[in-house]
Amino acid sequence: MKIHLLILFVLLPQFLFSQTRIIDMHVHSYSDSDFGEREPASDHYGMKGSATAEQHRQETFKAFEQFNIVKAMVSGNPESVINWAQKDNSNRVIKGILQFAPDSYGMDSVRFEQMVKDGDIEIFGELGPYYSGTTLSDPEWQPYLRICERYDIPVAVHTGGGDPLGTHTWAPKARLKLGDPYLIEDVLVNYPKLRIYMMHAGGEDWPEHAIRLMAYYPQLYTDLGVMLWVEPNTQRYITEFLKNIKHAGYLDRVMFGSDQMIWPYAIEKSIDFLNSLDFLTEEDKTGIFYDNAARFLKLE
Ligand SMILES: [Zn+2]
Repeated sequence: MKIHLLILFVLLPQFLFSQTRIIDMHVHSYSDSDFGEREPASDHYGMKGSATAEQHRQETFKAFEQFNIVKAMVSGNPESVINWAQKDNSNRVIKGILQFAPDSYGMDSVRFEQMVKDGDIEIFGELGPYYSGTTLSDPEWQPYLRICERYDIPVAVHTGGGDPLGTHTWAPKARLKLGDPYLIEDVLVNYPKLRIYMMHAGGEDWPEHAIRLMAYYPQLYTDLGVMLWVEPNTQRYITEFLKNIKHAGYLDRVMFGSDQMIWPYAIEKSIDFLNSLDFLTEEDKTGIFYDNAARFLKLE
């Protein structure tokens, strides 16, 4: 009797949660120094973001727990990522670094390699060459990519456009044409062993280029970050993208991502929207929420 009860208590939670585990490949962290610096306080729907960087961390961690997010790729300034990792007692945080330019935070390849060796960078990204008027194929990014290939550090690169006000304010060199996934093609050719994924699946701008690139380069994955929630228009694009990539046969390289930025509620909203898509089977959804990212991350 006791043994039966024990089995029940040990197995029941695993059974309940085994269907709903989620890996979020696109989460952002902040510190007081940069909280709210880029994103406006209210989102497209008028929802206000968290009040402070610490409240934002707590609300995001709460969402991790509530929605059984077992792993989260967290990118932000290095200080914020280390802070999140220190406060994470469930081993959820995968340490990324948000870098828009090759020299963000005064970074260079020597310091970068040391951070990789120290375990302070586990994924190189989110990279946003688009925001600094560069592309990942430019010479300044190559020393980093060589290190990533050598240490088997995955790369996460922004594709598609960005905040429409960005070009007029904090990212004056951002241009829509720089979000074209084809601009990473040289990287795929020159570093064939590099693990790499697109963020935002080409955005509203380049979904067909994203699919074609994935068809041509079987090592390439994508996340769905921001597209699942930020505007009705991105939801429209990502719905078409998912239909098309399912038809094309590459859905097993699509990974869930929220890109909550300063709005932690976006995690739930993204999960709900993906779950609402009827043309995806339960197996498709399990793949997007967990299996595809687990394979990409070599978790099991
Ligand atoms: Zn992005």
